[in-house]
Amino acid sequence: MRQPLVAGNWKMNGSKAFVAELLMGIKASSGGIQATELAVCAPFPYLYLLEELLAGTPIRYGAQDVAFENDGAFTGQVSVKMLKDFGCHYVIIGHSERRQFNAETDAMIARKYAQAIANELTPILCVGESLTERQQGQTEAIVARHLDAVIELNGVDALAKGVIAYEPVWAIGTGLTATPEQAQEVHAFLRTRIAAHSQPVASQVRILYGGSMKSNNALELIMQPDIDGGLIGGASLKADEFLAICQAGD
Ligand code: 13P
Repeated sequence: MRQPLVAGNWKMNGSKAFVAELLMGIKASSGGIQATELAVCAPFPYLYLLEELLAGTPIRYGAQDVAFENDGAFTGQVSVKMLKDFGCHYVIIGHSERRQFNAETDAMIARKYAQAIANELTPILCVGESLTERQQGQTEAIVARHLDAVIELNGVDALAKGVIAYEPVWAIGTGLTATPEQAQEVHAFLRTRIAAHSQPVASQVRILYGGSMKSNNALELIMQPDIDGGLIGGASLKADEFLAICQAGD
């Protein structure tokens, strides 16, 4: 059985006061959540606050990007070692916003994945097609390319050490959610593609859905056989909304 995971991606939002208040809200009401694992991924400057405020709770946390080297002349970058130093468990890798605004390539993302697993930080690898790509019937080709780049460099067993998130770009921040059937179709495609290399890894790896997931659509998405939770953007910035999604995972 795969344990459901609901992870918040706060993106470039927050302040010290906002983070403290949000975490208080999540901590206060998360006690009733049993089966679902909870995590939040914050901007780098706030990781120290997560370390402090989530100590002693089962809520895991992480960052939204990482460098593909561990030390050296990489101005402005943050290494896996540094994230570990602040107690991070997860790191989001290859988010479509980084592919788009930071020109991240499949090759860079595969190297980031390698750094993370080499240092026992769990990568959440994002894959997903744009609206044009979907309209052109390219969805499977695109997500296959995103996935294969990581398998080629790291081997299929490395996937068992991470989490995959299917995030159709057209559903991110738009209020346009993929239907449960559309999402399930892609999740099943990804799992079958992994199974072609290794059936055990395919049945073990968690595949999250991300893209306008809210409390009112989370349950029908998470109930799909190949959807193991969610990667939540906007709705993770409100404690009650985020917790309602976590309850759907339960
Ligand atoms: P929204 O939930 O705001 O659509 O964002 C999804 C996302 O990009 C999570 O990584």
